[in-house]
Amino acid sequence: MDKSMVSVVIPVYNEEAILNELVERCVKACDSMNRPYEVILVNDGSKDKSAKLICEAAEKHGGKIVGVLLNTNYGQHAAVNAGLEVSKGEYIITLDADLQNPPEEIPNLVATMDKGYDVVGTVRQNRQDTLFRRISSFMINTSVRKVTGVNMHDYGCMLRGYHRSVVNAMLQCHEHSKFIPILANSFAFNTTEIPVTHAERAVGDSKYSLWKLINLQFDLMTSMTTLPLRLLSVLGSCVCAFGFLLGLFIIVMRILKGDEWTQGGVFTLFAITFILMGGQFIAMGLLGEYIGRIFYNVRARPLYFIQRIVGRKQD
Ligand code: UDP
Ligand code: MG
Repeated sequence: MDKSMVSVVIPVYNEEAILNELVERCVKACDSMNRPYEVILVNDGSKDKSAKLICEAAEKHGGKIVGVLLNTNYGQHAAVNAGLEVSKGEYIITLDADLQNPPEEIPNLVATMDKGYDVVGTVRQNRQDTLFRRISSFMINTSVRKVTGVNMHDYGCMLRGYHRSVVNAMLQCHEHSKFIPILANSFAFNTTEIPVTHAERAVGDSKYSLWKLINLQFDLMTSMTTLPLRLLSVLGSCVCAFGFLLGLFIIVMRILKGDEWTQGGVFTLFAITFILMGGQFIAMGLLGEYIGRIFYNVRARPLYFIQRIVGRKQD
């Protein structure tokens, strides 16, 4: 069996307390696989000594550790993207720097990828996070499952394996808000999940504040789907239909019960207002449809990705 090269991509943001341990554990885990590998540490504009530590580690473990230094903080997924761009391996493993997902799981992931899966997800066993984090994860996971149609349980967990073909596809997407695991799944063909252990964040706090999380949720929703725009039209149609039915009802009651029943036209006014309001929503929804199309076109993803070409003679 040929042993494809493995690239491990790790975004690092203010993780000086943990970095040396991370490097040692990664190198040890990867050494045990007996195959070529590189660990790419992407410094996402850390304000502490992370950058310096990364440079030192790169020097110490010549060739095994690659440092990628970004000039300022671009966010976790942008940092991972930078790492993917630099990576050379056939298999790419992404991992968080905070040791919540132990690097010792890397060989398991690689072994699973050897079976021919192009995306390997992980499910965190006995998750060590706050209730709020777990609720928001649940919401994200269910909506992503609906949108991508890929049945994976845990999108929040960054410990994942991707085949080179999927990474190449992702690198051809130039949209701004990228969320790597979701993007990967929209190009994945053959996916699976394995359970991994999950530890508490060893040192320091989560780099995600509540505000950052809320931003992330909105980002995710708007980058994945234009469904909210379509909901406007649906809402408008409902309001409009209600107004119309109310109008009909008033006419019928007017005929049956006589003049007093209409309360001097107040209900008629209601009905008309509903119809007009509904009309406005429908119009907004229509605008939204066009905006949605602009969105997809501006995103300018390639129409398709070629996974492999076979049968052509090398020249
Ligand atoms: N991270 C990053 N840039 C940021 C925020 C986070 O590169 O702006 C990195 C961070 O160093 C860690 C990973 O992304 O390796 C996940 O961050 P964290 O553990 O704080 O997130 P959580 O586990 O709470 O989702
Ligand atoms: Mg974490």
